[in-house]
Amino acid sequence: MVHVFSLQRSSDKESILTILQVLGDLLSVGTDRRIRYMISKGGSEALLQTLVDTARSASPDYDVLLPLFRLLAKVGLRDKKFGQKALELEALDVTLILARKNLSHSQNLLHCLWALRVFASSVTTGAMLGINGAMELLFKVITPYTQKRTRIIRAAAEVLAALLESKSNSRRAVNRGYVAGLLRLHLDWHHRDTANAYVRIRRALLLCLRHIANLRSGREAFLAARGMEILFSSAQNRLDDKRLEPIISIVIQTLRQCYPRSPLPLVTSSSAYAFSIPGSIPPEPPCALTEEDFEDDADEEADKDSDSEDTKEQDDDLETDVNKLSSRPGLDRPEEELRQYEAMCLELSCSFEELESKPGDNLNFEETQDAEHYHIPPVTSPKQHYLTKDQSSWGQEREDMVQTSLLSMVKMGRSTMHPASKRGPGMNAYQNMQSNGLGIDSSGTEVPDIQASLKQDAWDIDMISCPMMSVSLSNSARPTETAEVIDKLLQTHPKHIPFHDPHLYMAKARRTRSVADFKRMAFPDLWGHRPPPSAQSMLERKCGVQRIKIFEDVRRLIQPSDVINKVVFSLDEPWPLQDTPSDCLRFSSKFESGNLRKAIRVREREYDLLVNTDVNSSQHQQWFYFQVSGMRAAVPYRFNIINCEKPNSQFNYGMQPTVYSVKEALLGRPTWIRMGYEICYYKNHYRQRTAVTGGASEKCFYTLTFVVTFPHNEDACYLAYHYPYTYTALLTHLDTLERSVNPKQVYFRQDVLCQTLGGNSCPLVTITATPESNSADHLEQFRQRPYQVITARVHPGESNASWVMKGALEFLVSSDPVARLLRENFIFKIIPMLNPDGVINGNHRCSLKGEDLNRQWLSPSACLQPTIYHAKGLLYYLSSVGRSPRVFCDFHGHSQKKNVFLYGCSIKETLWQAESSVGTSHLLEDIGYRTLPKILDKLAPAFTMSSCSFLVEKSRASTARVVVWREMGVSKSYTMESSYCGCNQGPYQVCEALASRVKRERAHPVDTLEGLQFGTSELEEMGAMFCLSLLILELKSVSCSHQLLTRATTLLNAVEEALDHHLQR
Ligand SMILES: [Zn+2]
Repeated sequence: MVHVFSLQRSSDKESILTILQVLGDLLSVGTDRRIRYMISKGGSEALLQTLVDTARSASPDYDVLLPLFRLLAKVGLRDKKFGQKALELEALDVTLILARKNLSHSQNLLHCLWALRVFASSVTTGAMLGINGAMELLFKVITPYTQKRTRIIRAAAEVLAALLESKSNSRRAVNRGYVAGLLRLHLDWHHRDTANAYVRIRRALLLCLRHIANLRSGREAFLAARGMEILFSSAQNRLDDKRLEPIISIVIQTLRQCYPRSPLPLVTSSSAYAFSIPGSIPPEPPCALTEEDFEDDADEEADKDSDSEDTKEQDDDLETDVNKLSSRPGLDRPEEELRQYEAMCLELSCSFEELESKPGDNLNFEETQDAEHYHIPPVTSPKQHYLTKDQSSWGQEREDMVQTSLLSMVKMGRSTMHPASKRGPGMNAYQNMQSNGLGIDSSGTEVPDIQASLKQDAWDIDMISCPMMSVSLSNSARPTETAEVIDKLLQTHPKHIPFHDPHLYMAKARRTRSVADFKRMAFPDLWGHRPPPSAQSMLERKCGVQRIKIFEDVRRLIQPSDVINKVVFSLDEPWPLQDTPSDCLRFSSKFESGNLRKAIRVREREYDLLVNTDVNSSQHQQWFYFQVSGMRAAVPYRFNIINCEKPNSQFNYGMQPTVYSVKEALLGRPTWIRMGYEICYYKNHYRQRTAVTGGASEKCFYTLTFVVTFPHNEDACYLAYHYPYTYTALLTHLDTLERSVNPKQVYFRQDVLCQTLGGNSCPLVTITATPESNSADHLEQFRQRPYQVITARVHPGESNASWVMKGALEFLVSSDPVARLLRENFIFKIIPMLNPDGVINGNHRCSLKGEDLNRQWLSPSACLQPTIYHAKGLLYYLSSVGRSPRVFCDFHGHSQKKNVFLYGCSIKETLWQAESSVGTSHLLEDIGYRTLPKILDKLAPAFTMSSCSFLVEKSRASTARVVVWREMGVSKSYTMESSYCGCNQGPYQVCEALASRVKRERAHPVDTLEGLQFGTSELEEMGAMFCLSLLILELKSVSCSHQLLTRATTLLNAVEEALDHHLQR
């Protein structure tokens, strides 16, 4: 290495050459380490100085210069400061001069270009080269198609592309008209390089355009020179040519970048529904943007199918203020206010006088029950244990004899899944179901003969599929007839949908108050649904599908001949808008949780859809729920939801939307199915200005695109982001549950926590076991049971949280011996829907005030955030009477991750993670917060410990989890997140039946099967597992009573192999 330093001292050619030779040899056999060592010792400077000295002599000696350039190129790649060093030593100028002198001398020129390429890798030196005329020089070298001097042309094009990364160079290129020149060069090479021998030259030319397109003026020049058309046609029909991959990806990026930005096709960016909040001024509607308003943006969005799906948590959001972490703030309201919650905790004062009646009375009660006493639907197969009505009748219940159905489902007991067979594009899941045979529903039950009472041909799908809630309110010309049809239909309702009653649903729906005053009900919510007969695996994404979709989007601009662009549905305009042709789909969304705002028919079978923003807000579009009808069977329809907001989605990783066919339901298969293929989620060209503090910022939108082939002609189908669960469904469910329990055994009480802003009541449910008698002992035991508090659905778009809650509720009132133990040992306080208004009005995130209610827990207001105010009040009350819950958990849905997991709170973990300098040794913290997730990790098939986190973030300071932990001192305070998508770990990771089939048929490696998409049963099972985990948590605690331990052990011994080690204390 000493050689390099003798370079500067050497003046005779021979010794310089020898040194260069030795260095070249050393570096070519050496590793990066050797080069970096040389750089650290000033090697770059020495080489550059030698270059400058040699080049400045009267007649430069190319015998020295050429090996020197080769060395520079090699060293320059490894030296991050190489450009800067070259600039300081004036090596840029001499290299440019040499290049100009050698325009016709290929060898010398090529060497100069290599050096320029490394100089240009720094933006500052790149800009300097631009000022000194490097681009003009390069344009002299880059010629139209030729088979000569192609190494030189390639090097020149690559240098040019590197130079254009600098904005000042790009601006210069635009001003000098290089955009048109580059497009001409691209076209020429593109057409004449038929053998694809010079892909790298073509790629470099395209890269030049791509960089220029980062400037607004660059995009304008590109459009003016018909760049869109030129690039579009050069990629058309070549999208899947592997050899052209490096070219096509740049073409697509450039087309996306240059596609003219435009505001969303909406009259206003605020919600179509407005609700006036008492005492507040409606926010100023943000105005739409024109291209003029857009700053130059350089978002380098690669056109690859994004593969890093986990977003990194930000450490700087962690709370590091120990005071905030460990101090307990005072009450946020006058103490006397807490007394109002006594009325919601009647269990603490009730004397149960009616219990004096003699045992045996409940026989009569049993016979009057119409609701079947189901457990959570079994998820593995319809045949798996669940108690028949006989087994579960109350008289026979003896927990040491009855096999609990839940325990047979714990994680280690599970092995195989029975998924639907893998579907190719164009096939739909209903075809699999139909193979079960018409007239047999998924559980094998005979379907009532609907055809007999209502001929299929005579079905008036429009009338049936979105029925009026109340006929007397109807404006329909044939109200009586409608009523008759619906009535007749309900008579044929198959009564095998557990805990569902359409008559009750209709009655409840009439009292549900919506901002838009919905008059109709969505058929699936009214009729009910059953889980699909088999689990659905994740959708395998075909490589390059996103590229094809984006290309199709660009084609609207280039080849508009088949573009229809006609609004066919809109909440903002009177409807029907125009005469819609008979082959056009019809849309509707004016029903509970529905939120489609506008549908535009783009091409014959392609529709752009816009969903409504949250009421009184101009954001949060992600949830969707709407009805579509008038389709033809078995033909593909493409739907694009073009105003999604989140930057990424599980739709890119195997998730499908859910679809419900009304005709299928009438044929005895009322099922939400994961459907759709060619699913992608990507940033589109729509922009909106949003007011933020200190000016305006630009908001981007994303397209969710999917293709659906419907199972029937002239059907009505419902499409949703996730299995819908309306507020009315909750009220119906709670009443059916209440009716199903034997009040002598199950204490089930519904209270109204409060009224919402929208005038709906927010239910509070209390579940425990009725005391055996009203003896003092029994009453004492009853009142001393510890509390467990569970809440859900503060975020209306997270319907998965409601399905988990539904599973928990059904399990808690069930005759399962575990459930019975839970009731006998705890009092459950459950608020199943913290944001009823949001759910009703089709919001994704907020309340009617346009606020995220899970950011209001620090200081909620009784008027503006009543459900949060009173949920917090109830928890305060419990705490004030010394009855803080053992566990608090708020159920949520997670849009970016798979599986189910918990977020908890730990001071120490937060400080450690933040690398805080505060010592933690003096801090006392019970590590019990990790026990519950650990139990769930072992029990619940869908749960994974690996996604759990116990960090307290500043941005989450006002969430239920953090406030209940800090203000009520509940150390086991959690958020439980369930994926919208499904599972990629545990028993649901690989569907064995599927894996072996695929292995056999395609010799496909098993690990490409990503797992299972959640159905409602898996979510409900999760709710039941959560309850079971509360029992096991108690068994592990020191305060666990001897009696409970004995009884639980007897019960759990039945499945000892599966559970014994959970019980080790
Ligand atoms: Zn949430």
